[in-house]
Amino acid sequence: MSSDAGSPRKKLYIETVGCQMNLLDSELVVGKLRHEGYELTDDVELADTILYNTCSVRQHAEDKIYSALGRIKNIKRDRPGVSIGVLGCMAQKDQGQILKRAPHVDVVIGPGQLGRVSELLDAARAEGKPQMAVSLPRTGGSRDAVTASFAEYDPLREPAMRPNPFQAFVRIMMGCDKFCTYCIVPSVRGPEQSRPPGAIVEESRALAGQGVKEITLLGQTVNSYKHADDDGQTVRLAELLERLDAIGGIERIKFITNYPNDMTDDLLQAVRDLPKVSRYLHVPAQSGCDDVLKRMKRGYTVELYDDMMGRIREILPEAAVSSDFIVGFCGETEASFRKSVAMVERWRFKNSFIFKYSPRLGTKADTLHIDDVPEEVKRRRNNELLAVQNAICLEDHARFVGQTVEILVEGPSKSSANREVAPGEFGQLTGRTTCDRIVVFDGPGRLVGRTLAVEIEGVSAVTLFGRAATLESVGAGA
Ligand code: SAM
Ligand code: SF4
Repeated sequence: MSSDAGSPRKKLYIETVGCQMNLLDSELVVGKLRHEGYELTDDVELADTILYNTCSVRQHAEDKIYSALGRIKNIKRDRPGVSIGVLGCMAQKDQGQILKRAPHVDVVIGPGQLGRVSELLDAARAEGKPQMAVSLPRTGGSRDAVTASFAEYDPLREPAMRPNPFQAFVRIMMGCDKFCTYCIVPSVRGPEQSRPPGAIVEESRALAGQGVKEITLLGQTVNSYKHADDDGQTVRLAELLERLDAIGGIERIKFITNYPNDMTDDLLQAVRDLPKVSRYLHVPAQSGCDDVLKRMKRGYTVELYDDMMGRIREILPEAAVSSDFIVGFCGETEASFRKSVAMVERWRFKNSFIFKYSPRLGTKADTLHIDDVPEEVKRRRNNELLAVQNAICLEDHARFVGQTVEILVEGPSKSSANREVAPGEFGQLTGRTTCDRIVVFDGPGRLVGRTLAVEIEGVSAVTLFGRAATLESVGAGA
């Protein structure tokens, strides 16, 4: 059904929590709904459809959604015609529980069923009762049946949902088969599937046609990408990057998140040799201690991770590498935590995302191990590891002072409250180097979307501060 010219457009409010995969899913949902006659609003009070695209990776992300649902109860009471939806990972995980805890919810849709969003919203309105669409559990049928229940839907891209018109995410893989014991992702996002390379290339070409300059390829273990054509030809990430590198208009290609065991030399060589591929690798270690890694069932040892880092440093000496760590996982002693600190010190990551372990119902860790590290110990370890990482960031950033770096200008900086800077107006802008370092500088709004040389004058642990080296010529309209 598409919009009737005469009928008023339905106002859609959507909030997204979680990872880049969720941001992309929200973009696709909005693209679909706009096509069906909805228009976006950023005021929940004005909306007649309110959607939450949710995350289940940590308890905190779920708590946020349940309290948001509590806050909007009065909207539904005052305007019963408003439709409320819970989408994404929490919908797949909690299913009917959501309707029990929040009976004012109209639709519950798992990440593998998002293509049905407008149909289910219509059905909930027509039938006056909640609708739920979720995929099969991992043990709910043959691998093919479970995989098919996590269907991919046609990417109707929605430029208005992207933070800016020249950067876009492109999904190349869905699901995960690694089953790390702490992680809910394999249950809520289903079996690992790689999209056909032709579809990825076509989508990236279309994005380039819309003015996109930078694409970020997404997958839970993106470097495990592997697609077998009908003729038996297997395409892996290195070859896919080569095909994407050839697309005119695309200037930068990034890919996240990498799995240490699949970081092959030929992939590292492709990153080295392909001019558009960013020398930036996000490869979570999760822990620097073999006992913990074993309990996490990460499938590698510290020696193997170190070997991979050695190969990265050898083949791509200038690459920036970032990591994720979980602190306070079941049985993590002070000595095991010290090994994570030592790993951060040894490899001096560009940055690390550090999380306190959050037990997830339905995971192996939750049934096999005891969450025995007290909350205050988790918090202390989190702060300590972050402090070690931040000190490294600051030291590493210091060497950029006086250097000129090339950045893609993304928009107004956070400290200017992300306020739009008009093309002729000066304001504080932000951009990123190809190694994913954040650079802030003053310049006119017309620089947004341009690739620019910036001379670095100062640094903090998170940001490089600079002056646009080519500002005069660009300011004159170049
Ligand atoms: N697929 C990616 C990988 O393997 O690294 C990331 C997936 S997960 C959405 C992102 C990060 O969340 C993980 O790298 C891990 O550090 C963290 N994480 C996952 N489950 C967690 C849990 N139960 N408690 C705390 N952190 C968790
Ligand atoms: Fe979760 Fe591990 Fe899969 Fe990453 S690789 S999504 S941490 S199970």
